[in-house]
Amino acid sequence: MKAAVYRGPHRIKIEEMPEPEASGRKVLVKFSAGSICGTDMHLYRGDWRWMKKGIILGHDACGVREDTGERVVMVPIVNCGRCYFCLRGLPTYCIKGKFYGLTRDGFFAEFKAMLPRSLIPLPSGVTDEEGAVMEPVALALRVLDLLSPNTQDWVTIVGQGPIGLLMTKIAALKGCRVIAVDLEDYRLELAQKYGADAVVNAQREDTVKAVRELTKRGSDLVIEAAGTMRTVEQTPFLVRKAGKVALVGESKGYLNLEDADEALFFTVYISPVEYPLAVELIAKKAVDVKGLITHRFRLEEFEKALKTLEDPQEKPLKVVITR
Ligand SMILES: [Zn+2]
Ligand SMILES: [Zn+2]
Repeated sequence: MKAAVYRGPHRIKIEEMPEPEASGRKVLVKFSAGSICGTDMHLYRGDWRWMKKGIILGHDACGVREDTGERVVMVPIVNCGRCYFCLRGLPTYCIKGKFYGLTRDGFFAEFKAMLPRSLIPLPSGVTDEEGAVMEPVALALRVLDLLSPNTQDWVTIVGQGPIGLLMTKIAALKGCRVIAVDLEDYRLELAQKYGADAVVNAQREDTVKAVRELTKRGSDLVIEAAGTMRTVEQTPFLVRKAGKVALVGESKGYLNLEDADEALFFTVYISPVEYPLAVELIAKKAVDVKGLITHRFRLEEFEKALKTLEDPQEKPLKVVITR
């Protein structure tokens, strides 16, 4: 079967790989569609050198169960259910946990063997393309639940890529006032469609000043979703006293917390438990992931898809890979 294999930075190739088998309790899932995530781009650029070579990429995808013919979303984290973290309701940190597309072979392949408990049925009203963009919705739900905003709280969301835009949408659903920050106007225009009350173009405006002016006392909540050192280091100056800051994804940087009186800072990366709710919200048309899809490629064109994501001229958001 064809699969997108990691061979090192800038060396991700479509290769012929052995087909997995439906052994034990696992069932075969035939790939329908998947989307490329910021994590995949970190690997492509060589930011994460610990990644083992020869692993099949992909952790956000849907397919068809070979045994039942059911359309399903594949959940990329498998947990044991018995360890310290699992027993505390924190399956993301399972000691024996496997992460498909990172520590184990992922979903950008014609077939994947999966445990049925890691498969979420897709309702008929949800397309394959929509089923391919589930991980950032689940993450946005998790982050907003952790922040537990009050109605009309100010939430500043730095970075309006696919993850930031979905945070904007979920924060708006929760009744927050959202300030969306990005360097690109096309992303900020979409942020307004996704429910942002105010937008700040950080290329033209001083983000801290703009946020302080809008909120008077600083933002009640801050979500850092751009993943740069500069934006991480900016967060203590955006949050109000005793506010909360979620650092999503890459969170390298030095936090000067001198003036961030009693603010709460935390990191969050992924969440396997919100997948069913993510599917439900998309099915109900409460969250639009289709609007994030800017490019579509076939599995054979995987390298072209990566290059497109690297090219700002293409104005990429979500790039979807189909069979
Ligand atoms: Zn991801
Ligand atoms: Zn566990």
